[in-house]
Amino acid sequence: MINLSSVPCKALLQWYQENLRDLPWRHTTDAYHIWISEIMLQQTQVKTVLPRYKQWFQQFPSIQQLADSPLDDVLKAWEGLGYYRRARFIHAASQQIMNKYHGVFPKQFEGILSLPGIGPSTAGAIASFCFAMNTPVLDGNVKRVLKRWHNQAEIGDKQLWALAQAAIDISKKPALWNQAMMELGATLCQSHSAQCTACPVSTTCKAAFLTLNKNISNKKKVVIKDLFWQINLHIHPEKGIWLQQRPEDGIWPGLWTPPIIELSHQPKKIPCHTHRLTHRRIHLYAKKCHSSPPSEGRWVQQLSQLALPTGIHRALAKQRTA
Ligand code: SF4
Repeated sequence: MINLSSVPCKALLQWYQENLRDLPWRHTTDAYHIWISEIMLQQTQVKTVLPRYKQWFQQFPSIQQLADSPLDDVLKAWEGLGYYRRARFIHAASQQIMNKYHGVFPKQFEGILSLPGIGPSTAGAIASFCFAMNTPVLDGNVKRVLKRWHNQAEIGDKQLWALAQAAIDISKKPALWNQAMMELGATLCQSHSAQCTACPVSTTCKAAFLTLNKNISNKKKVVIKDLFWQINLHIHPEKGIWLQQRPEDGIWPGLWTPPIIELSHQPKKIPCHTHRLTHRRIHLYAKKCHSSPPSEGRWVQQLSQLALPTGIHRALAKQRTA
């Protein structure tokens, strides 16, 4: 089905070394730095991650300082990056590293994989970048490149892992190979466009000749669900605003918001803000309340004290300027 001998290692590695973007996590093989960068980059754009990566290590310079920090501080540091489960997993993993590995990031693949929030692809990145192991990365970018390269749009994860492993074995340069594949998917071979004429693997890529720049996307259509949430604003001139902590499961776990009521129907008025997540659109409707706040929660004078979702920040900002 797939001819592995056709993988042009040299051309890809050379292209990467000549074209790589200069990013701070490419100047280190320290596992703590690589781990945090990989998790931040999972669902967040590079340009957003860049300043946050630097700030993170100013606030949590070591795994020990991260593990000793309250979860609320870690969530606050994650504010604006979205998908807050990542921050919770990072905090839990730092404590596991302290308790089980005496504060030293594990060097064995199984140990890396056992940490909360680290799946096989992230473990592959850490193991290859930091410890030179022959472990492939198979994130969304790499999957897309492999599928196009071999013109196998329907290929399953099991086969993709086998293919990725075989390719990395042939390359004999696991860190470089993984980085080159990730870079190719992030730059020339994007989901909605492919610059095949500039691509180092175009001579062997089957998609380059079959579907050159014609609707090349392998993406399935994402079904978006609309949610209608009323945010109840209890505001006191001296005490501030009443906030509640979101439950551990569901949207925005552990973050602070005004009391939220989920509405069963779309209100007739225009929402004060609509926040988009991957599979959901949350339409927020602010309501000023003059009654006593509910029992659960606390008054907050400075919003910067706690971690709030970006959508709530935006809705509150619009209320202030309305
Ligand atoms: S030749 Fe085109 S489709 Fe193939 S890997 Fe390169 S950019 Fe992607």
